[in-house]
Amino acid sequence: MRLGLLGGTFNPIHLGHLRAAVEVREAFNLDRILLIPSACPPHKEIQDVVSAEDRLEMVRLAVQGVPFLEASGVEVSRPGTSFTIETLKYFQDHFGPESSIYFVIGLDAFSEIATWKSYKHLFPTAHFIVMTRPGTYFQDLKNFVFAHISEEYKYDISSNHYTHPHWCSIFCVEITHLDISATQIRTCMSHDSPISFLVPRIVEDYILERKLYQ
Ligand code: ATP
Repeated sequence: MRLGLLGGTFNPIHLGHLRAAVEVREAFNLDRILLIPSACPPHKEIQDVVSAEDRLEMVRLAVQGVPFLEASGVEVSRPGTSFTIETLKYFQDHFGPESSIYFVIGLDAFSEIATWKSYKHLFPTAHFIVMTRPGTYFQDLKNFVFAHISEEYKYDISSNHYTHPHWCSIFCVEITHLDISATQIRTCMSHDSPISFLVPRIVEDYILERKLYQ
């Protein structure tokens, strides 16, 4: 089993997340990608984050009927702050040693990884697939990996990935740049501007019906 995990606040999920997941799934031939909303995100201001249940429900609706993508409530149902290290361990135990876990993450989030709980333990546990986002570039990644993660990583320019003698690999991937963020959607909502074609229609309907982000 080649399992992809895409964690995030998903406040709300948008087409940038979904297109990224579809492209990464295909490029890395993953069996599936689980989209995992955090219960209590450790790195975000809590004020304008809607409930974990609403965020999970929007993820569920967004991936309904989409091949290879699934919503996971593993962090929402775990009490307390959501730490990625615990989520990785959970899936490692659940799927066993024959499975490979690929943690999918945007370069913006990856460049803050040194602030995550037990972040150095993440790299022996899962491969990382780091995606560019509009306005982010891989140039500085090399220094970051060597300085903050491990000097033992070796960069392979032809395949644009880092290998380590004992740990998992870090892959870099260029995806279609959809300059959409959840912040933009919340801002639109607070200005009464339409959010059509930024989120799936079914998510738009959910947000409007429940009067979220107003
Ligand atoms: P916010 O605007 O509230 O900070 P966000 O749009 O960045 O939210 P998150 O839920 O924080 O969304 O993102 C989850 C993951 O998806 C992160 O790894 C992030 O880098 C990635 N991601 C978010 N938006 C995009 C996008 N448009 N293209 C590619 N990756 C994205």
